[in-house]
Amino acid sequence: MHELPKLDYAYDALEPHIDAKTMEIHHTKHHATYVQKLNDGVKGTQYETMDVDEILKQFETVPKELQKVVRNHGGGHSNHRMFWKMMAPKGGGEPSGKLAEAIKKQFGSFAAFKEQFTKAALDHFGSGWAWLLNGDGKLEILSTLNQDSPLMFGKTPILGLDVWEHSFYLKHMNKKADYITAWWNVVNWKEAEKRFG
Ligand code: MN
Repeated sequence: MHELPKLDYAYDALEPHIDAKTMEIHHTKHHATYVQKLNDGVKGTQYETMDVDEILKQFETVPKELQKVVRNHGGGHSNHRMFWKMMAPKGGGEPSGKLAEAIKKQFGSFAAFKEQFTKAALDHFGSGWAWLLNGDGKLEILSTLNQDSPLMFGKTPILGLDVWEHSFYLKHMNKKADYITAWWNVVNWKEAEKRFG
């Protein structure tokens, strides 16, 4: 059975940047539904007990009839599980250590990276995610559709931003740019540094 993880902080802990109501609905309704539908879909198969990230990493070998549920709901479960950890109360600022160096090397500066990532998130059309990914030892910014997981494409997510309307509409309505600006204040760079290794 796949399980909805508990958050490491209270629903109101990311206020005023991310509001408590959005956090609560996002976690207890949206994320919970991905977990439930994943469980319903893979019931009685080997994927019932396999960690969702492992399933996504070997997506090509998943039987055709299960690919849709794994892609949509497995991806949704994995993406959100990461997303909660990629945010923290008193987050924001800039990364340090190896990740800071890699960002500078790849994008020129932290400011240039931030601008490029913001643009990817803002320009993404429809539902999806913006990512900072590590692939073949090189950092890259990419956006993915719906709940497609970068793990399906052999990439390691370092940082991800949910740009589905459900992640910002209650507070920001149509103002996606305001949500992205607010989100930078809760980025958990410690988690991103850990994921970079
Ligand atoms: Mn979401």
